[in-house]
Amino acid sequence: MTAVRRFTLAIHGGAGTVARAALSGADAHGYRAGLGAALRAGHRVLAGGGCALDAVTEAVVALEDDPHFNAGLGAVLTEEGRVEMDAAIMDGRDRRAGAVACVSGPRNPILAARTVMERSPHVLLAGEGAERFLRAEGVAFAPATYFLTQRRIEALDRELRRRDSGKPDRRSDADRHGTVGAVACDAAGHLAAATSTGGLTGKQPGRIGDTPVFGAGTWADDATCAVSATGHGESFMRWVVAHEIAGRLRHRGECVEVAATAVVSALAENDGAGGVIAVDAAGHFALPFNSEGMYRGVIEPDGVPRVAIHDEPLT
Ligand code: ASP
Repeated sequence: MTAVRRFTLAIHGGAGTVARAALSGADAHGYRAGLGAALRAGHRVLAGGGCALDAVTEAVVALEDDPHFNAGLGAVLTEEGRVEMDAAIMDGRDRRAGAVACVSGPRNPILAARTVMERSPHVLLAGEGAERFLRAEGVAFAPATYFLTQRRIEALDRELRRRDSGKPDRRSDADRHGTVGAVACDAAGHLAAATSTGGLTGKQPGRIGDTPVFGAGTWADDATCAVSATGHGESFMRWVVAHEIAGRLRHRGECVEVAATAVVSALAENDGAGGVIAVDAAGHFALPFNSEGMYRGVIEPDGVPRVAIHDEPLT
């Protein structure tokens, strides 16, 4: 009997978690079910001998289609009440990469990012020009109303009323931000990363976060690791988080767990609330965060999804 070569898929549903004390059993079940479904979608690809790039695509599409998470359906709203979404995908085999920023129409922004990677000579396309290109390429769009959820409308409303009142910002992480992401090591030892987000609730139109910035929120290179980040995007960009983790593997010989944990701890001191998921080419993974929680999960060849929300172990 030949042993199944190790493969690993890790995902996150963002560091904008509902506080432990405020999370009802039913809501926890919904988040865990969403993570489990995304893990199984990616596992189907990897167990069938598919590549890491396809596995992270499938996992992120599943998370974008789930209104619990801040990406695709259920993305947070700008201060003008629209969605403006960012997404990125990177192939560790050859560092091919594609991203979209500030797009409002593609139903699955991660498929838009993949289209930029595969069908344009560019790495990052933004706004109207991106949407024109994506329509011409036949990428599926959804009407503005598709993305809107009551929960995000209410979160924006609360934030706009707070701004009018001049009161300090004491929003919960869940009201502020979120993101979804996936990293995978396939059975051939190839890596890929994908990240997709609506960004920050009440953000200024035109604001772009770390997600579509390669090296900040998304990175994959077979020689080191694949990383997808979630958290306060401005800090993640200034600390070039994902590439910093890869750099520690390359130049200091650290393992993925030591490197990712060190970078995420340093961020905590620099207004960088959030976390990352990372995997190396041997399938070792790390899921560190410095926030109260990070929706996250892992699946390996046994096909059993293991997920967690706050600081409890994966189950
Ligand atoms: N990093 C995302 C952004 O700044 C938000 C998040 O991950 O929560 O756009």
